[in-house]
This record gives sequence, C-alpha cells and structure tokens, in this order.
Amino acid sequence: MYPLHLTPLPQLAGERERPQPPQEPTSIVLISVLLPRPFHLPFTYSVPANLERGIACGDLVIAPLGKQRLVGCVWSIDQEACEAQLSGKTPRPICARLVGAPRLKDPLRALITRLAHYYHCPLGEALKLALPSISTQRALTLNPQQETLSLEAWEERGLPRALWEPAAQLSHLLKQRPLKALDVPFSISKLEWAALHEHGVVCTEELPTLSPPVLMVRCERPSVISAKRALSLTARLHLALEKALDPPQEGVSLPALAAQLETSVGKLKKPLRALIEAGVVSVTIRQTCGVSPLEEVEIETQALPTEHAHSTFTPFSLTQEQREASERIMEAEGFEAFLLHGVTGSGKTEVYLEVIERALEQGKSALVLVPEIGLTPQTMRRFQERLGVEVLPWHSALSPRERLDVWWALAQPHPKVLIGARSALFAPLSELGVIVVDESHDSSYKQGEGVRYHARDMAVLRAMLEGCPVVMGSATPSLECIHNASSGKYVHLQLKQRPLNAQLPDVHLIDLKTTRVVSDNAPAFSLPLAQALSACLKRGEQSILYLNRRGFSQSVRCLSCGFIFKCRACELSLPWHQKTGLLECHHCEFKAPLPQHCPDCHQGSSFAPIGRGTERIEQQVKSLFPTARVLRLDRDSDLNPLALERVMREGEVDVLIGTQMVTKGHDFPNVTLVGVLDADGALGLPDFRAAERSYQLISQVSGRAGRSTQKGEVYLQTYRPDDELLQAARFHDFGRFASHEMSLRRAVGYPPLSFMATLRLEGEQGELLSLALTDLSKALSLVPLGVSAQGPNLAPIEQVRGRKRWIAALRSPQRPLLHKALDQIMNLLLKTSWSRSLRVIIDVDPLDFL
Ligand code: ADP
Ligand code: ZN
Ligand code: ZN
Repeated sequence: MYPLHLTPLPQLAGERERPQPPQEPTSIVLISVLLPRPFHLPFTYSVPANLERGIACGDLVIAPLGKQRLVGCVWSIDQEACEAQLSGKTPRPICARLVGAPRLKDPLRALITRLAHYYHCPLGEALKLALPSISTQRALTLNPQQETLSLEAWEERGLPRALWEPAAQLSHLLKQRPLKALDVPFSISKLEWAALHEHGVVCTEELPTLSPPVLMVRCERPSVISAKRALSLTARLHLALEKALDPPQEGVSLPALAAQLETSVGKLKKPLRALIEAGVVSVTIRQTCGVSPLEEVEIETQALPTEHAHSTFTPFSLTQEQREASERIMEAEGFEAFLLHGVTGSGKTEVYLEVIERALEQGKSALVLVPEIGLTPQTMRRFQERLGVEVLPWHSALSPRERLDVWWALAQPHPKVLIGARSALFAPLSELGVIVVDESHDSSYKQGEGVRYHARDMAVLRAMLEGCPVVMGSATPSLECIHNASSGKYVHLQLKQRPLNAQLPDVHLIDLKTTRVVSDNAPAFSLPLAQALSACLKRGEQSILYLNRRGFSQSVRCLSCGFIFKCRACELSLPWHQKTGLLECHHCEFKAPLPQHCPDCHQGSSFAPIGRGTERIEQQVKSLFPTARVLRLDRDSDLNPLALERVMREGEVDVLIGTQMVTKGHDFPNVTLVGVLDADGALGLPDFRAAERSYQLISQVSGRAGRSTQKGEVYLQTYRPDDELLQAARFHDFGRFASHEMSLRRAVGYPPLSFMATLRLEGEQGELLSLALTDLSKALSLVPLGVSAQGPNLAPIEQVRGRKRWIAALRSPQRPLLHKALDQIMNLLLKTSWSRSLRVIIDVDPLDFL
C-alpha cells in the first residue's frame, strides 16, 4: 500500500476568520509550476498557507489550468522570479500537493530542461515524458463563488424552494470531496442536480484520476476440466483463479491475471464472460478512489507484476574479458560513459549484473534500458534470480494502473532496479548508481513522434547529471558510438569471445542468382537453406527464419491488365493479409477486401500476389515440413511477445518465423539455425544508414544461433554476395564493416562526422502548403555559414493519409551552429501566416528519412 496524502485545501469560507499563522521569514507564497502541456515556461501560482510547509522544487502538485486541474511539477520557488512572471496579475492557488508521490529531483529536472533545449520542443512537452499518463475525470464540485452562500442567499438569488433541500445536501457532500455524476446519492435526482448546476450552485470540472477502478475476479466453484479443454485459455484462467484462493483472497485483478497467463486483458474478456455465465467465477469492482483534492486518499496497489527473488542461482565465474570490463566500469568515480562492445553471446549481461550488484551494495539504484518489451521478462528473470532485490518493469504493455503502481513504488527510498523500454529513462529514481543501455545501437531508442529524443544519448546526459557511470552495450555499436569511443568521449571495452568456448556460427552466403530454389511450392527457399532446415528439424533443434515484411504478399496484381493495388491515400503498394483476407495499408488505417473485378480494367477477376511477407513464408515452411511446429511472430500474430521466451525455451516450437521482433537480444539455447530470407531487403532504402542497419540486423539475427554448446549455422540469401557488408558479416568482422562505412561517411560528410537535423512539413496539397514550402525554402536559404541545407524535397514516402510529406535537411560539422540555424529558421517561420495551421516538425539527429 502506498498512501497518497493529499493535504486538504482550506475551507475557503472559514479561512478568512481563522487567524493567520505568523509569517515565517522563508515563507513560500508563490511557486512556478510546469504543466505537461506544450508550454515553453512554467506558470506562477500561489500556495495556500496549509500547503506551504516543506514545499520544494520537484514536488508534484495539482494546479488549475482554465477549467481543468492538472498534475504538474514545482519548477521554481524563487519568489522574485515568480512575482516578475506574474507582471501584476493575481495568481491562482494550487489545489493540492501529491505528498508521498515520487519527486522529480534536480538531475531529472535538469534532464528535462536540457532535452527540451536540444530537441527544440516546448518544456512542458518534455515534462510529459516524466509523468505517468494521468487521466482526468469529469466531476461535480461546489461552485467556488457560491461556496460561502447560505440558504438565505440562495433564496435571494431566486433558487426555487424545492431545490433548497437538495442544494444543502449536495453542497455538504461536495465540501468534502468532488463527486462523479454516478456517485451523487439517489436521494438527489438527475433533474435536481442538473437544475443546481444551472443555478450555479455546483459546477463540473475535469479532475485528475490517479487510479482507475479495478475488476476483482474470484473463483466460486472448483474447476472440472476435461483433458480436451485442458489447454484452452478458459481452462487455464479457471485454474489460475482457483489457485489464487489459497490462501483465500478477495480475488485477483484482471491485469495481474493477464500477466500470469501471458496474455492481454482484452483477450481474457471472452473466456471470463463464459466463466461468469457458467456461474463459476464472480466479479466485483473495487473502486479505488479517483483523486479528490479535498481529502486524504489512500491508494491500494495491486501486487506488482514482479516476483521476488528466489536465489537458486549460482553466478558463473566470469571470463577474463568480463572481469576486466566490469572492474574498469566499477573504477568510475562519478560520471563516465562506457561502450561495452561484445560479440553476440559474449555475456554482456553478466557485466551489467556485476556493475549493478556493486551499485546496490552501495545503496544505490540502477536503471536498465532494453529496446524491446519482449526482452523484459527474460532480463527481469535473470536479474531477479541474481540480484535478490526488487526489479520493477516499465514498458508499454503495462496497463495504466500497473504503471502507476510501479511509478508509486519508485518513491520508496530503498535501492531498486528498474528495467524498461525507452520511456523508463525518465523514471523518478533517485540515487542512481548506474545506467545500462542494452543493445544500444537499436533504432527503437529513438522516439519517432512527439518529442523525437534518442534515449541512448539522453541516458548519457542523465548519467552526467546524476554523476554515475553509463554502460552502452552492443555487438554492433552505432557508428556514432564508435566515433565517440575513438575520440575518447566513451571508454571502449571489448568482449571478443563467447564464454565456455562457444563458437560464433558459420555464415553461408547463398547467391540467389545461381542457386536453385527447393521447389515451386516454396520459392522463398534455396536448396541449401531448405536442407539445413530439414537437418535441424531431424536433430530436434530449433531454427529462426527472418524476413522484415509482415502480411502475405507485398501487393496483388491483376492478371488481365497488370494493375497493382495501391493505397489511394498513401500511393504505396497494398500488402495482402491472409489472416484477415484483406488488403491492408501499412502506413494508414485503410483496409479492404479484394474486389471481384479489377478496379482498373473492370474485366480481370484473377489476381496474383507479388512479393512475400511472413505469412507466405509460414505457408511455405508448412508445405515443406508438414509436421514441423511453426510459430510466426510479428505485429499481426496472436502471441504476446512477452510469452515468446517461455514458448521457445519449453521447446513448443521448431521453427520461429518473424520480423525484427525475433532478432533482438533473445537467448534461446536450442536455436542452431538462422535463415535470413532476404539479406538485401533493407539495402534499397533511401537512407544513408541503410548499410549500417542491415549489418546490425544480420549480425543480431545471426547471433541467435548456437549460443550454447551446439555450434550454429546461418544462411544469408542474397543477390549480391560480394557486397562488402555481407563479406564482413560472413567473417563476423564488425571492425572491417565499420571502418569501410566510416570512410564512406567521411567522404560525404555525413553523421557521425557531422551533425544533422531535419524539418518536416506535412499537409494537404494546396495553396497553404505551397506558401509554407516557399517560406521554408526562404528560411533555409538564410542559414548561417557552416551549415548546409537541402530541400525541402518530397519525402521518399511522398504521401500518407492523403497528406503530402516534405522534408528538408540541415547539416553542420559543428553542433552549436546547427542549433543556431534551427532557432533562426523556427523564429522566421513562427511569424508566418500559416504557422497556426501547419506545423514544421524538427527532428534532431534523425534516424528516419522516409
Ligand atoms: P550477450 O548479451 O552478450 O549477447 P548474454 O549475456 O545473453 O550475451 O550471454 C550469453 C550466454 O552466455 C547466456 O546464456 C549466459 O548465461 C552465458 N554466460 C555469460 N557469461 C558466462 C560465463 N562467464 N560463463 C558461462 N556462461 C556464461
Ligand atoms: Zn485489371
Ligand atoms: Zn495508406
């Protein structure tokens, strides 16, 4: 239980009569509060006397904004500065303080400020990254102007007599706490409170909610489950509930159940309904309070989705390389940045664990970023087994409720480990001892919308502000990291060997120009790959097949006229999905079945798929190996990525087929074969990092093979086997690839040898857009010396959802110059007539050029 104490507001009516406490000399009357809205500055509020004590920067408060009340952060308590900002206006008072909630301490607030500056976004937008999403609820409150009025006064104001009684009753209730419309007692009818609303006795307001109601599910009758149904979700759900009764409990919450059964709350609803209808389970709602700023509230937390340590674990003896690396990191006094460059399977995690263990011993906490939520259960399990402390998760698969629970737990002072995706970087952990960024090259660390920050770079900044080391691990570090390591900004640590003499896999390049496919039924498979797959199945080992395209085919063609289906709004080819039977655009929401007749020639009624996606690969594997147990994992599949780990380790799968989701970080000991069906796939993209990204992907997915005692094999199918990239991949020679790539970048002056930003402009074709483009071009032509500007040009994906996409790029060998140019351009554009209707989006250190 984490109590949330909301210090009560003064009763405004009585306040005037109450003697004022003697003013302390340090009394804080004004504060500036930053709100999570796109504002560049915090606003000044006054602090009611009873909320004043101990208020400090970083505290979370509830402050009014227009008709809303928002959770914001105290940004300054400097009286003079606050007063200056008021410029004579009367400040509004804050409503409440969230006592007991995590505070945003100095380093975190400094991170927010620096981030907003660096990515040219409003300060309030940056704050939003550090606050959990707190929804608001419409609630009835007492009209502040009416609050002090008595019955007589209402009479004077013409409140009908019939409403006096309900008015008195309702104001009595509302003086204690705001009410949701549903909570108004039955004795007051809807008509009555609507009338009171009209007369201004009560009003409605948006109030922040800190916790949604929780459904508690409880088993009422034991399960009798036939063998046939034993594995259905319904049966598993029933069993889980039954188990929860021992010891007898009030019930289990839905999110906790979903986590236990490795599924989502959504998928539980149907089986749950069946069980309720059969009368074997009951459901109650536990309405934990919405926050009412007028009272003290206790928030009960659900069991956190973590398990406590069972220390059955004996640590390995570290290899020489692992020991040297971890000792070097532990030598850091205060901030130091480390690039832990270790081949796949070299045991980077053990190094993290050593370092984190030391931090915990010193009473400090650790923050671990992982790129893919599918990796959190695996990482959490390993960490919990080893460290024996509370390991908390933070990622998008947590329900808002679970997130709040974790967030709340962060306020507890004891040392802990938080593992999460990108957004965990802003968690209000105090006393950080180390930050780890695992798979630090991964592009998912860059946020693709909103504030386009890069979590790796910001992790380095946070570590600097917190004064602790940061460790960036990767088998294929980004060229930015390599560059920083060679310039001495980062300490370069290397792990060149896998432990226990495990070997890196053999890599075979299959030249698709000269190699036969295995059969017409499976044209995606070259003979050597199919043979290897067959052998792997015979040995009872697992394999992974990788293709970065979901759906069945890339598009569909009319066999009469050759017409290819494209999305009208995006003008891009329309993939066909077997599972839904629909053409589905991957850039907008467009979905439609194949028409009976071709929309172009109106004759043709036979269509053929072109290109292949993961669904088609799945079909081909099944036709080649009908008895193999095949699992497909991509955004369309039913499997919760969090369950992949278990399914693979328990050997329920022979062949795993998937998109990028299967390539990252997983450690499945029984996988000995990896097939990359189209090793050239990512090379065609108009992006100067295409080769780097291809190398990373190929090396990551290859690294899943042979991580344990059996040696692994990798087959790369390609049309360009002589390519430098594939040759380097074949010999696991990242150094060769990186220096080749770096020399290409140097020749053209691209990052990491210069700094870059893009400006994006999107809109419907028309006058406004043309005007904006002209103004943007003009602004670009005025950039200072030392900055080069390109564009605006139509983006490679020219149009999405009917909006044209334009992109301009700035480059400079000096970072400050680049930022100066951005400021200058934005200042010019702010003055234009269209700036209110069209937005120019700045992306600093962009990864996305499509
Ligand atoms: P990476 O993250 O570098 O790809 P992992 O940390 O996942 O590699 O380690 C790969 C495998 O090697 C894991 O199964 C891990 O348990 C094992 N391992 C790591 N260090 C050692 C060691 N010192 N001795 C034996 N096995 C180890
Ligand atoms: Zn046609
Ligand atoms: Zn579309």
